[in-house]
Amino acid sequence: MYVYLNDRIVPAEDAVVSVFDHGFLYGDGIYETMRAYNGIVFMIDEHIKRLFRSASLIGLKIPYNSEKLKSSIYKTIQANNLENAYIRLTISRGCGSLGLDPDFCQKPSIVIIAKEQKDYPKSLYQKGLKVIIAKTRRNFKEAINPRIKSLNFLNNILAKLEAKEKNANEAIMLNVYGKLTEGTICNVFFYKDNVLFTPSVDCGILDGITRGIVIDIAKKQGIRVKEGKFTKTDIYSANEIFVTNTTMEVMPVSELDGNKYPAGEISKNLRKFYRQKVKEYIKNYRT
Ligand code: PLP
Repeated sequence: MYVYLNDRIVPAEDAVVSVFDHGFLYGDGIYETMRAYNGIVFMIDEHIKRLFRSASLIGLKIPYNSEKLKSSIYKTIQANNLENAYIRLTISRGCGSLGLDPDFCQKPSIVIIAKEQKDYPKSLYQKGLKVIIAKTRRNFKEAINPRIKSLNFLNNILAKLEAKEKNANEAIMLNVYGKLTEGTICNVFFYKDNVLFTPSVDCGILDGITRGIVIDIAKKQGIRVKEGKFTKTDIYSANEIFVTNTTMEVMPVSELDGNKYPAGEISKNLRKFYRQKVKEYIKNYRT
């Protein structure tokens, strides 16, 4: 495996960053996760745009422009001979002396890792995920806004530990007001009374790129979509629940806090249309 590290492609074992990197010391940095299909990175412009937004929200100046970031991503994919890939682009504040001050760091560290990403097994889409609602609350958006895709992931990891303890695949977090937010690595949707519900961005969530696509597709299919503030009780009585992210796409939830849900037609159809959108994107994309 080859890794992109600060303008060089190096073997994975040589891809090391300093113990003085503020990403390591303080979780000071940002990242994006992308997916390539047939050698094309799906929605690359949207991911790069969100990366720049995250950077701006933490006052980090990315030393590359979008074109250079994009060509670095493709270089990494090609160095690993990948067609279908999971790509993680990380930018940390860089090396500096001990102390929080970002000005101690001269140059951000830029790392791109790409590994093979096959489709999740069909059986998982048929079976669905087991999910819990975590006791851990989602970061208060006035503290660390979940719209910043940051290296500070302890909030999500604490919820993930709760999920693991209960033998569940994923945990949904509430915000400090008891409203639904999102999973540890995904956005949440539920369907009932002929309406598709999903927590609004002001609940304190990452505005997932997959979430945006799914909302558009649903509207085009004539499904009423309501973004808003919802509670546990609202989601418990759903007919269908599913989660979305770049790698899982649209994944049904079959169990939430012990209540059972079918991997139903709504999530199945939305995933079908999502895959169509991927196909069209790949066909039309010029690198
Ligand atoms: N919410 C969180 C906390 C995430 O980490 C992710 C993906 O990594 C998402 C939502 C979904 O975002 P996207 O659809 O852009 O992958």
